[in-house]
Parts: sequence; structure tokens; C-alpha cells
Amino acid sequence: MSKPKTIFRCQTCGHETVKWSGRCPACGAWNTLAETRIEKQDKPAELRTSSVEISLLSEIAQSGEARRSTGIDELDRVLGGGVMPASVVLISGDPGIGKSTLLLQMAASLVRQNISCLYVSGEESLKQIKTRADRLAVGNIALPLLAETELA
Ligand SMILES: [Zn+2]
Repeated sequence: MSKPKTIFRCQTCGHETVKWSGRCPACGAWNTLAETRIEKQDKPAELRTSSVEISLLSEIAQSGEARRSTGIDELDRVLGGGVMPASVVLISGDPGIGKSTLLLQMAASLVRQNISCLYVSGEESLKQIKTRADRLAVGNIALPLLAETELA
């Protein structure tokens, strides 16, 4: 059982705050905040109702999906031998250090190996990507591109 939570409720306007104050931040009345105990609700409003499935480690089949070479030896080495299908890798570094260049080279290399790939940029326009690709001599690769800033 969790301990009850205390809040402060304005006796004038009903505003609730977790911190006591001499003056209500909502209506501006003085000395109207009264300590109120609130009992925690038994269940969160959106309780998960779908069932889950427990798996035994010993019964999980190996996918057998091998890592795929990025075509860049040093990147493959850092990734532990290449890109693992269905994995997420965060590439970070200072601005201008070459993240976009590296990833564009990698994407072009994957497409060359007939591995489906989508290059999504939230920072550069399609023309900027094309300019970079031409500079890297991969501008003629049929790499699907998307310039989009809204994740959904
Ligand atoms: Zn108030």
C-alpha cells in the first residue's frame, strides 16, 4: 500500500498544487491553500488489459539472420560485424563530424546489395541530400529518400 499523497487545494477556486504557497497561483487569494490528503486510486486509468505471453529462453528459436555489411569496414567493426536486421543504432557526434555522410554512404551501399533501405532526413532537403550524394559519387543510386520532420 502506497502512502497517501498530500496536495494543497485552494478553498476559493479549487486549484490544486503539490507545493504550499501563501498565495493561490490561480486566483491570487491569500492563505486559501489547505492541505488535502488524496488516496491513490487502486488502478491507473488506462490499465493494460491485453494478455502477454511468457517465453522460455531455451525454446526461443534462433532467427539465423546474419549481420549485414554496411560496405564500410570501420563501421562494420564498430557495429560488431555489420548491421543487425530489426535493430536500432544511435549514431551521435558533434555537428559537422560526418554522421550524415557516413549514413548516406551506408544507405547507398545497402541499396547496392539489394537490401531495402529508406533514408529519412529531418534536417536536410532532398536537394541537399542529392548534392551530398553527388559529392560522394553515389548520386546515381536508386535510394528511396524522405525529408520529413513529423515522426508520426
Ligand atoms: Zn485559488
